[in-house]
Amino acid sequence: MTQPASPLQDVYQAADLTRWPQATAGVTPPVRLAVFGDPVAHSLSPQFQQAALDHYGIAARYARIHVPVAGLGTALRQLPAAGFIGVNLTIPHKMAALELVDGADEHARLLGAVNTVTVDGERLLGFNTDGPGFVRAVRAEFSVDVRDLRILILGAGGGAGRGIAVQCAREGCARLVLVNRTAAKATALAADLEPFFHSQRLLGPSARLAAIPWEEPQLRRELAQTDLVVNASAVGLQPTDPSPLPAALLAPHLLVLDTIYVAPRTRLMQAADEVGARSANGLSMLLQQGALAFEIWFGRPAPLPAMRAALERAGAVGIN
Ligand code: NAP
Repeated sequence: MTQPASPLQDVYQAADLTRWPQATAGVTPPVRLAVFGDPVAHSLSPQFQQAALDHYGIAARYARIHVPVAGLGTALRQLPAAGFIGVNLTIPHKMAALELVDGADEHARLLGAVNTVTVDGERLLGFNTDGPGFVRAVRAEFSVDVRDLRILILGAGGGAGRGIAVQCAREGCARLVLVNRTAAKATALAADLEPFFHSQRLLGPSARLAAIPWEEPQLRRELAQTDLVVNASAVGLQPTDPSPLPAALLAPHLLVLDTIYVAPRTRLMQAADEVGARSANGLSMLLQQGALAFEIWFGRPAPLPAMRAALERAGAVGIN
């Protein structure tokens, strides 16, 4: 008797991996990629990764799997037997995953975090595409290279902010200013990144690397010597949040990248509009880190237009 076809579920559970053929019976083509997270229902990765798979006619589905912290190791170890090509990892798994994979690339080791895993036989290899995705997003949105910019990062002490800061340092950006609500985190990160700023690129009297408190006088002084402002803090995620920087602190010469992507025009972007500064939200970064993951899994260029169109269909608008 033929089994009736079952639709892909919105979210699978970690326990489903122990009986993956039964849990996904009738799903065609088979699920061979997924994002692990807790929570995971909000993840937009399935939308644009599926578009990339479909674009190339790759017979695979991309699913969401709800994996709690305690279940990550077991879930990862079940991937080879379940026939997976790889997975993405989102909150709260990125750091823990580094200890659970069999090998990791340089980006992942430096950041202490993995967002992409590829299955190689029985081995699991970890990668981090968040930082390189940020670099590609800056290029796509503003047609400039990170290495040519003086960059100020708000929320530099969080997971995303740290990743972006490490990437900027590795790229050899002209100047890097780290700002965090809990100032000690920015200071500690600056100490870690010091070795990247030993070269003799001269910029006048100001140090190439600094950590400053999240306070108006210091921000005003630093923003006068900044080309790109990045908001990697959670301020702006809630509809009731203010802009992380008031328009009065911004200026027309600034490029403003808000990593938040819950709105096409975030509060910070609205503040940038008020002074005539160019700005972008976090969708481009999201798309680019996913494109790099696709390239790791399949060794071919990610079909960005198809992926972008899928994100726009999912309701996320306003990306270049
Ligand atoms: P996280 O590790 O929890 O970091 C949160 C950051 O926000 C910390 O720096 C925290 O400062 C700061 N923060 C929280 N509330 C604040 C407040 N009221 N005032 C000032 N600072 C505050 O989270 P995450 O994963 O890094 O995510 C941070 C942001 O990045 C989110 O908005 C997320 O949407 C965005 N993100 C975007 C992408 C993308 O692809 N576009 C990817 C990842 C993350 P303390 O250290 O003082 O707590």
